[in-house]
Amino acid sequence: SERIIGLNGAPGESDGWGVYYRARAMIEAGETLTMLCIGEHDRKTAPFILDAMDASARGGNTGYALALGQDGLRRAVAERVEAATGVDTTAANVMITTGGQAALFATMCAALDPGDTAVIVDPYYATYPSTVRGAGGVLRTVAARPSKGFQPDASDLSAATEGARALLINTPHNPTGAVYSRATMEGIAAVCRERDLWLISDEVYSGQVHEGAHLSPRALPGMAERTLVVGSMSKSYVMTGFRIGWVIGPEDVIAAMMSLANATTYGVPGFIQDAAEIALRQGAAEEAEVAALYNRRRDRAVAALEGSPVAVSPPDGAMYVMLDIRGTGMSGEAFAMALLERERIAVMPGESFGRAAAGHVRVALTVGDEAMAAALRRLAQFASR
Ligand code: PLP
Repeated sequence: SERIIGLNGAPGESDGWGVYYRARAMIEAGETLTMLCIGEHDRKTAPFILDAMDASARGGNTGYALALGQDGLRRAVAERVEAATGVDTTAANVMITTGGQAALFATMCAALDPGDTAVIVDPYYATYPSTVRGAGGVLRTVAARPSKGFQPDASDLSAATEGARALLINTPHNPTGAVYSRATMEGIAAVCRERDLWLISDEVYSGQVHEGAHLSPRALPGMAERTLVVGSMSKSYVMTGFRIGWVIGPEDVIAAMMSLANATTYGVPGFIQDAAEIALRQGAAEEAEVAALYNRRRDRAVAALEGSPVAVSPPDGAMYVMLDIRGTGMSGEAFAMALLERERIAVMPGESFGRAAAGHVRVALTVGDEAMAAALRRLAQFASR
């Protein structure tokens, strides 16, 4: 089962996920670690969201929900997307899913016939390979280089997508924190038009931008009809366990996805959808607070590591900091494993997100200021040694 998440290597080959499983085993054995390896908030879901869920369930919304989602929530998502992008969007363009992950799977199932190729950008969010393969697709990767701020190059994309059916991108990006520039996005859009590709745009961190602005490719010319956007409440509203997300796409694709919902989840619980609608309609302050929290933590982490032997380029978005540890002469995996064993600090090796982030480690900004400052101090001292 470990290989369900650990996906990069051939069977038996190391792919960096050993660090995560070792950390979990240490916790289960009663050890105390500083866990900076997964994107799980230390903050609690806001009480007004919990109250909305409770009131909805007690009010009787506990039966089967509509497979594509409740009208109210689909409308709330559509209004938000239209306001953010200027692209005409109605409830008919929205499917509610059990989190961004189910949205990713739905988009892959919609875009690919068995045997079709989907291209993903390396480094990538760790579930992408199994999502492509689970939908019957063939996986191809294209590297985004550290020297280019992990922004994929249009000519590399063009070469990699020959004969492909879909391209999956993610911005703001996990693990690197890259926020794709307008130029990057226009290059991506041009490749998709030229190669007649579906573009799947994972925007689950769109609410967490520290620098620059998030641009949804659906807003670019000729892209609304070929773009499937993946969104989620998990990160922006601290609702990871609610499992609520969505796909935005052309009406006919959304309608066709109903058969997938019928075959799998049969809809997202109505009381969860009611809570999500309240969060979207009344949660601007909460969303802003969450964004500000990670923004402050990012600034502090970057400042704390200044002058240390690990290089850190400030991430433009999301809730992680990538450290370039190549100066230590260690691989990301060796560094992370040694840091775990000797300092009891768990970070993710870059290798667990593909090959392009080898020699890096990802630090999730998911503990409070004091614990983070102490962990980064020890990490820097460890790197010096
Ligand atoms: N996409 C990216 C890039 C992520 O980092 C994550 C979660 O960490 C997801 C999708 C899945 O999010 P959700 O909790 O909405 O399923």
